[in-house]
Amino acid sequence: MPGPRTSSPATNQPVASSDIPGPGRDGHRSRGTGSAAAVLRAVLDHGPVARSFIGSATGLSPAAVSRQTADLISLGVLRELPAAACGPRAGRPSVPIDVDTDTHLACGVHIAVPMLTFGLVDLRGRTVAREELPHSGDAAELINLIARGLPRFLQRHAGRRRVLGLGVVTGGHVDGRTGTVVEHEPLGWRNLQLGPLLAARTGLPVRVDSHAHALAEAEILFGEPRARSSLVHLFVGNVVDAAIATEGVVHRGLRSAAGGVAHLPVPGARQPCPCGERGCAQASLSDRALLVKAVERGILPRPDPMLLQQAVAAGEPAAVELVRRRLGDIAKVVATLLDMLDPELLVLTELGVLFQPALLPDLFEEIVAHSRSCRDPEPVVRPSSFGADVLAVAATAAVLNSVHRSPRTLDAFSRHPVLAAGAAGVAGGAVPGRIPEAALK
Ligand SMILES: [Zn+2]
Repeated sequence: MPGPRTSSPATNQPVASSDIPGPGRDGHRSRGTGSAAAVLRAVLDHGPVARSFIGSATGLSPAAVSRQTADLISLGVLRELPAAACGPRAGRPSVPIDVDTDTHLACGVHIAVPMLTFGLVDLRGRTVAREELPHSGDAAELINLIARGLPRFLQRHAGRRRVLGLGVVTGGHVDGRTGTVVEHEPLGWRNLQLGPLLAARTGLPVRVDSHAHALAEAEILFGEPRARSSLVHLFVGNVVDAAIATEGVVHRGLRSAAGGVAHLPVPGARQPCPCGERGCAQASLSDRALLVKAVERGILPRPDPMLLQQAVAAGEPAAVELVRRRLGDIAKVVATLLDMLDPELLVLTELGVLFQPALLPDLFEEIVAHSRSCRDPEPVVRPSSFGADVLAVAATAAVLNSVHRSPRTLDAFSRHPVLAAGAAGVAGGAVPGRIPEAALK
């Protein structure tokens, strides 16, 4: 399966992400590379832990564990903690090892309608900072906004930490191999070469990915371990999309379009869709459709997604009832996906379950009513692991995924002249990433 193609941090030449070892394709890699990823995974899952624990978790010899941990510590991926921090599950007392969250950060930009989100996320998948900005949807304006806003965002929040690269995700059909947004209906974009344009403007290595695929990558990397077995991720926002992953690998499809559920018919729905049909999932279930209803019913004065989010988060009864009813229709799509794919885990990222988890039993009840196979959805269907940070984490998933699957690539990042200059620039208060002056106009 071909992976996304993007710029190599070391050379700015295209490299395929299929060159990056993953859980399902480590066999052809050198033992050292696979071992480094296994050691990092063990520490990520269980850290802080002793070296002896890493040995038993990975099956590596004490000498190999010692060598790998020394390498990863020198790269700023792992660090040694004071002995007192070692927990009881870490085995015999020794110097505990944990993921180094102070040396590197991944930067991400999530482009939604009508907001974009800047995020900085550490190697544990924890959001260090995020900021949201409204945008008009015009592609040229948006690229200017990112090129102007990114250096300032990094200056405010990155400190002395090294920025590993820029992940960019957006909804619709995205070809990560070329960094192209093939189609984004709500923004009206077609064949927009977002990756090359942003790389030219920011000077950073840029990895563009589909929003849906990135959300699934984030769950596989940092969410519940069952996500690494088989996962369906369903996102309902202004776009409605899904992703499918097995054995820790997201299925992208021949045209990077796998998981497109925007035009799946929702039983009973009649809303007209731009595709010419009625009752498609995106036309019926999106936040846009919900906002129209909220304004029609006098729940909101205008179709502002932030107002809707605030009303749902504050538990305003009419707004909560609106999302509860929508969950009833979302449950029909969830039931279809469960019947088709029977995953170990289905993660639903949506406004209602994000801010009103008390609505989950209603969702489960409706799933049972519509699924032919799932009688107990509660253990299978979960909200996002990242709460309100979900978009920031998803935006950085492609960058962090490459590090976690092949930690030694950090060596190449550290030699990248632009990023090295960027790190020094941040420390010195200058513009990080050496973004050209012309790009800041
Ligand atoms: Zn449609």
